[in-house]
Amino acid sequence: MTSHRDDIEQSETWTNLRHQLKDLDGQSYREYKRIKGNYGFPEFKLSIDYVQGDPFAAPSRLCIRVSQTVAGFPVEWITDYASQVAIADYLTRQVAQVAQLLQKKRGSGKSGKIEIAAPSQAILRRTAIWPEADAIELRLTVGLPAFGRRIAGMAAAALLCEDIPQLVSQCLKYEVLDSVAIERHIHTLKDAESLRAQLAEKGLVAFVAAASCLPRRSGVDERPLNEAADLFVPPADSCIALETPYSGRVQGLGIRAGVTLIVGGGYHGKSTLLRAIEQGIYSHVPGDGREQVVSDARTVKLRAEDGRSVVGVDISPVINHLPRGRDSRQFSTTNASGSTSQAAGLLEAVEAGAKVLLIDEDTAATNFMIRDRKMQALIAKDKEPITPFVDKVRQLYDDYGISTILVIGGSGDYFDVADTVIAMEDYQPKIVTTQAKAIANADPNPREQEGDRNFGPITPRAVLPGSLPDSLPSRSKSNRKGDRTRPLKAKARRDSLILGNETIDLKAIEQIAEVHQVNAIAQAIIYADRYYFAPERSFSELLDLVMDDIERGGLDALLAGSTPVDRPSNVSYRLGNLAMFRRFELAAAINRLRTVRIEPIKTKSVEITPI
Ligand code: ADP
Ligand code: MG
Repeated sequence: MTSHRDDIEQSETWTNLRHQLKDLDGQSYREYKRIKGNYGFPEFKLSIDYVQGDPFAAPSRLCIRVSQTVAGFPVEWITDYASQVAIADYLTRQVAQVAQLLQKKRGSGKSGKIEIAAPSQAILRRTAIWPEADAIELRLTVGLPAFGRRIAGMAAAALLCEDIPQLVSQCLKYEVLDSVAIERHIHTLKDAESLRAQLAEKGLVAFVAAASCLPRRSGVDERPLNEAADLFVPPADSCIALETPYSGRVQGLGIRAGVTLIVGGGYHGKSTLLRAIEQGIYSHVPGDGREQVVSDARTVKLRAEDGRSVVGVDISPVINHLPRGRDSRQFSTTNASGSTSQAAGLLEAVEAGAKVLLIDEDTAATNFMIRDRKMQALIAKDKEPITPFVDKVRQLYDDYGISTILVIGGSGDYFDVADTVIAMEDYQPKIVTTQAKAIANADPNPREQEGDRNFGPITPRAVLPGSLPDSLPSRSKSNRKGDRTRPLKAKARRDSLILGNETIDLKAIEQIAEVHQVNAIAQAIIYADRYYFAPERSFSELLDLVMDDIERGGLDALLAGSTPVDRPSNVSYRLGNLAMFRRFELAAAINRLRTVRIEPIKTKSVEITPI
């Protein structure tokens, strides 16, 4: 029997594995632990990294390396980063499909299951597959077969020594793959990246190409609403053209930096357009309909989120003079209101480096957004802590260069401060800036502008050590906070992250595209706590450091230095279920952690200087 920690050392042959499995037949399921290790197959190397404890537990993890002499991908495709990402994404989808067809029920529980981290509509870097010049690495999970709680050795041999090799030869060999489809995947990604890269120099924050299909099938199905959809037609008077490397000139609506309103009647497609822009931070797969809808990579969707926790945020630019003299320059609450949650979200996004903010009236707090003339007459300014966003959105752009795109069908007060007004009618945009400005200028009773002429300070904060929750359920007394005698377990869903005995609510973080990003964010939080939480380091610097490490070492870097104290010893550092995320979503998760300790930064009391 081998020890639990030799990862890369010796390798046995696949026939040995088959014999071993047959010998294990009928034994207690726990004996499966013996097969952990490395095996040489004719076409690849198999590492069994983690063996599940019983047939119903989290499945076992495999890592497979196929040399390029077998895989045979064209060299020029695997030496360029964007192509690698696109190929990996394509192959992940291929493996997901073939695994579904190939897997058989081979006993009780998860017996026989073969799974790869299934992707969303976004093309993302993931740890499930990574192609390099010498080899392709594939990470899968399988359910090791059982009869009841006994090892089904023959079935296991069939799974590992027949199903897996078949999966490899059907999915990871260039000669059997659809090279036209792979090329389309690569070109789609590169065109989208090229469009996104042109935004800043053209003074744009987003671009929506003609003939894009924006609506989705349903609120829970991100695939395109194909036949029933009206394709996007950019307004003739503000249609621009951008060049792409593979689709030539692309016509579309360019949304300029500054303050943009999307107005229009209910159900005319306003939120759908904003949602497409929000997801334009990602490049999408061919056939998605939003392949050429792109937005600035620093675009952050904001919304009200009552009930969330807020720790030490300076919300004084928008909220001041709270009742009972509560401090809004270091605002904390375990139960934010709609308006304070949106204020905190705004300042947190700016702190993390957002350059474009998106707000939809459907999910915004009305009193954060507007305060009309009649309300100004009834409630004196000194009795209203909130300076409505309508009086701040202009300054945000003028002082800090941060643009805002707002969906607002219910209030014309924003006409005065907007640079561009887009009206949606029957799902199509029209530019109505001139009309909106004329209406604003002709108003005989305009509302009074509130707040200062400047946006106000952005106060940098630091995340302190000891911010993570306990690893044990709260009932247990044995574990003091920060005393990590046990590994912190993470369990991710698309809309929540359980970390130790805490649950971080991520429902309001709408720009998370898939659960694998949440898995990676969990690892990043644990990593940041280990290396970077410090009183003299700003939150923004902390995000820089984590994201730089990932850029250099890939997502695996988040686990590379871990010791058994930090995580369960049976977890190898090769996880196949991580996907790339942005600094903004990592910041959002940390900001929502109820145990987080955040204070104004210790050393210099500098404020971020206005541009
Ligand atoms: P609004 O925000 O203006 O009230 P939504 O964006 O929520 O409107 O859209 C209303 C409905 O119309 C949604 O069900 C959406 O899927 C659908 N829809 C949006 N755009 C299109 C389109 N281009 N073609 C077909 N249906 C669309
Ligand atoms: Mg709407």
